[in-house]
Amino acid sequence: DLTPIRRALLSVSDKTGLIDLGQALAARGVELLSTGGSAKALRDAGLTVKDVSDVTGFPEMMDGRVKTLHPKVHGGLLALRSNPEHVAAMEEHGIGGIDLLVVNLYPFEATVAAGGDYQTCIENIDIGGPAMIRAASKNHDDVAVIVDVQDYDALLAELDANDGQTTYAFRRKQAQIAYARTAAYDAAVSNWMAAAIGEETPRRRAVAGELVQTLRYGENSHQQAAFYTDGSGRQGVATATQLQGKELSYNNINDTDAAFELVAEFDPENGPAVAIIKHANPCGVAVGETLVEAYQKAFDCDRTSAFGGIVALNQPLDAETAKKITEIFTEVVIAPGASNEAKEIFAAKKNLRLLLTDGLPDPRKPIMAYKQVAGGMLVQDKDVGAVAADELKVVTKKAPTDAQMADLQFAWKVAKHVKSNAIVYVKNGATVGVGAGQMSRLDSANVAAAKAERMAKELGLDESLAKGSAVASDAFFPFADGLLEAAAAGGTCVIQPGGSMRDEEVIKAADDAGIAMVFTGMRHFRH
Ligand code: 5GP
Repeated sequence: DLTPIRRALLSVSDKTGLIDLGQALAARGVELLSTGGSAKALRDAGLTVKDVSDVTGFPEMMDGRVKTLHPKVHGGLLALRSNPEHVAAMEEHGIGGIDLLVVNLYPFEATVAAGGDYQTCIENIDIGGPAMIRAASKNHDDVAVIVDVQDYDALLAELDANDGQTTYAFRRKQAQIAYARTAAYDAAVSNWMAAAIGEETPRRRAVAGELVQTLRYGENSHQQAAFYTDGSGRQGVATATQLQGKELSYNNINDTDAAFELVAEFDPENGPAVAIIKHANPCGVAVGETLVEAYQKAFDCDRTSAFGGIVALNQPLDAETAKKITEIFTEVVIAPGASNEAKEIFAAKKNLRLLLTDGLPDPRKPIMAYKQVAGGMLVQDKDVGAVAADELKVVTKKAPTDAQMADLQFAWKVAKHVKSNAIVYVKNGATVGVGAGQMSRLDSANVAAAKAERMAKELGLDESLAKGSAVASDAFFPFADGLLEAAAAGGTCVIQPGGSMRDEEVIKAADDAGIAMVFTGMRHFRH
C-alpha cells in the first residue's frame, strides 16, 4: 500500500508555499512537471521543471482554458499501475505516470467576493484543475492528490515517515478532501449563476460549503464542529474580521449571526440600533438617538440575561458605547466598523471578541437556509419577508397612534427574530419583555410579562415595564386568551398576522379591552 513518488505535477493559482514544496520534492528526487505560471515560479527559484506543454506537445491555449486537458496528463493520473492493460496503454502511447498532483484552483469564490464582473467570474472557473483533481482522486490507489496549501507539510511528513512514499490511508484521505473541494467549487459556481439569473428558489440548487475554520467543539464540548461559508459572499458573521479576543466558538458564531441579522433590520439611516442576544434569542433590542442610548435601552430590557451576551450594532462602534459595553461581561461585539478610540477601549479587555464587517447583512436578500433532519436536509428561503407600513390593516375600532404604530412595527421586526412562539413587548423603541420558544402562545405572553415585571423591580419602578407597551405576536392568536394576557400585562396595542378561524373573537376581545390591533397578513415562525 506504499507508493513512491517519482513524478509530480504542480499547477497552482495560489503560489503560497510552492517554492518550498518544489524544493522539498526535488530534494527527494522527484521529477517536477508544471503549468505556465507555476513552472515559471519554480524555475525562477532555480528548480528544474518540465513544462506540461512539452509533455503534451500542445501549447497552453485559449487564455489558459486548455493547458492540461490531454491524455498524456490524464492517462498519467488515471492509469492503474496494477492493471497490465493500463500499463501497456501507457507504454504504447508514451504516457508517463504522475504519482503526485498538487493543484489549487482558479480563485473563483474570491473573484465573486471581490465583485468581479460576469465575464471575469466566468474566466475564473477552473476546468483543467478540477478535471485533474477528480482523476487523481479516483486513482488514489496509485496517486496522491493535494488541493490545499495547508496540507503541504502533511505531505512532506508523510514522505519522511515512509521513505519517500505515501500510504493508502493518506492518499484516500486526501482524495476525500479533494472531492469536497471540487464539490464546493461547483456549488459556488452554480449558486453564483443562480444569483445572476435571479433564480432565488432553493429548488435544484447545490448545497456545499467551503471550510473556514475547524472549531474547538460544537454546541457542547463532546461534539466536533466546523464553520463553512456558502460561497455567497453575503455580508455577515462569515465575512467578519475578528480584531481581538479568544477564538470564536460554535455558539458564538450562531448567536452573533442571530444578533447581526436582527440589527440589520434597522436601517442605519433611521438611527442607531442595538441587539443583545443570548441563546439565539434577543434579550434586548432598542433604537436610540445615539448608539450608547440604544445600547442602554437594550440592556435595560433584561440586564440579567444580557450578561455574557452577544451585542450587534447597526453602526460603527464609537468610544462611548465601547466604554458602556465593557462595564459588563460580553462575549462578542459585531459592528460595521469601529472608531480607533473604541478599538483602544476594547483592547484592554483581552477576552472580548470584536468582529468588524464592511457593512450590514442585506435583510431583504434571499439566500438559502438549511436545517438538518435525521437522514436529510430541509432547504428553504431565508425569511426575508417584511410588511410595508401601508400593508398593515387596522382591524379594531381603535387605531394605533403614530407612536404606537412605530412601536408596533419595531416589535414586529424583533418578533421575526425570536424563536416561536414569540411574544414581544415594546415601548419607546425598546423591547421591554421578550417571550421566546414556548410551546403555547399564552406561555410566551406570560414569560414576556414576567420578565417585564421583574426588570421593573430591578430598576426600582412601581409598574411593569410592559405597561402601555406595543405587543407583537409572530403568528396569529388562536384564541383570545393570549391577547387578553398581553392586555393584562399592560399591552395597549397589538400587531399579529391574523388569519385565525377565531379572528373575530380575538378582534372583539381587543375591542372590549380598548386595544388597537393591526394585521400584517404575514407570519414569522422561527424554529
Ligand atoms: P499556472 O499559474 O501554473 O499557469 O496555472 C495554474 C492554474 O491552472 C491552477 O489553478 C490549475 O487548476 C489551472 N489549470 C490547470 N490546467 C488547466 C486547464 O487545462 N484548463 C484550465 N482552465 N485551468 C487549468
